[in-house]
Amino acid sequence: MVNKEFKNCSVDLNDHFVAEVDDGKTVRFWVNRWVNGGRLSMRFPDLYRLSQSKQATVEECYSVRDGVARWELKWKRGLSSDQERAREQRLQSVLIHLSRRDKKDTWSWLSDKKKTDFPVKIVRQELEKSSANTCQNNIFNWNRIAVPKINHFVWRATESRIPTATALARRNVNVGNERCPLCGIAEEDAHHLLVACSFARSVWWSVLVWVKLPIPRAFESVNQVLQHVQNYGSDGLRKRVVQSIALLTLWIIWTCRNEKIFKPF
Ligand SMILES: [Zn+2]
Repeated sequence: MVNKEFKNCSVDLNDHFVAEVDDGKTVRFWVNRWVNGGRLSMRFPDLYRLSQSKQATVEECYSVRDGVARWELKWKRGLSSDQERAREQRLQSVLIHLSRRDKKDTWSWLSDKKKTDFPVKIVRQELEKSSANTCQNNIFNWNRIAVPKINHFVWRATESRIPTATALARRNVNVGNERCPLCGIAEEDAHHLLVACSFARSVWWSVLVWVKLPIPRAFESVNQVLQHVQNYGSDGLRKRVVQSIALLTLWIIWTCRNEKIFKPF
C-alpha cells in the first residue's frame, strides 16, 4: 500500500530497500533486493520469466525435508534447454550458502549505512529528484516544517494526482457527479478545488492577509500559489514558515472537501 503511494510519485521502494533475510516471510524471492543487495529477477531474467510465482516469498521457496534444506523453485514448464538448466544450476549455486532462520527479516535503506528506521531525508531527496524528472515546470520544494504527509499531498496536487472527481473519472471510476462539492458549479479537478474555487479563493484571501502577502488578481493552479509564496519575502525562517502555511492551507481545503463528501451531515 505504501509502495503504491510512492509509485504514484515515480518512486519504487523496491529499488531502495535491501533485506537481510531471516525467516523470509516479508521478502519477495525474485523482486526484492536481498542476495548481495540485488534482485534475482534482474540477475536471472530468463528464469524470472519462467517462474510460476513471481511474487513468492523467500519462505515459500525454501523447505527442509528429512533434515535437508533445499530451494524449490516452481516453473511454468519444465526447463527444456541445456542453457536453462545451466542457469538454474547457477542460481542454485548462488543460493546454496543462504538459509532461513527463525528471526524476523530486517530491512534497511540501500544507501543508508547507519540503517536508521526510515530515513525521511533520503525519501525527500528521492521525491524531489523524481519531481524534477517528471515535470520540469513543477516548482514544488519540500518544506522541512510541514510534515511529510502534507508535502507529499501538495506535490501530488501540483501534478493533478490527487483523487478528485475528474481524476477518478479519467481512470474509469464511476463517481456519478464530477462537480466540485464545495461550490457545485465547476468540474472538480485539483487546481479548481484547491485554488480557483470560490471557497478556496476566500480561504486564500484570508490566509494571504494574515501572512501579509499581496493578494493576486486570481490563482489558477497550485503551482501559481507556490510561486506566489516563493516570490515574496527573503530566504530564511519566515519564508519557510509562510511556505508551510501555504502547504497546510492546501491540505485543509482538501480535508474540508473530504468532510463535505464523506460526512455531509
Ligand atoms: Zn468549486
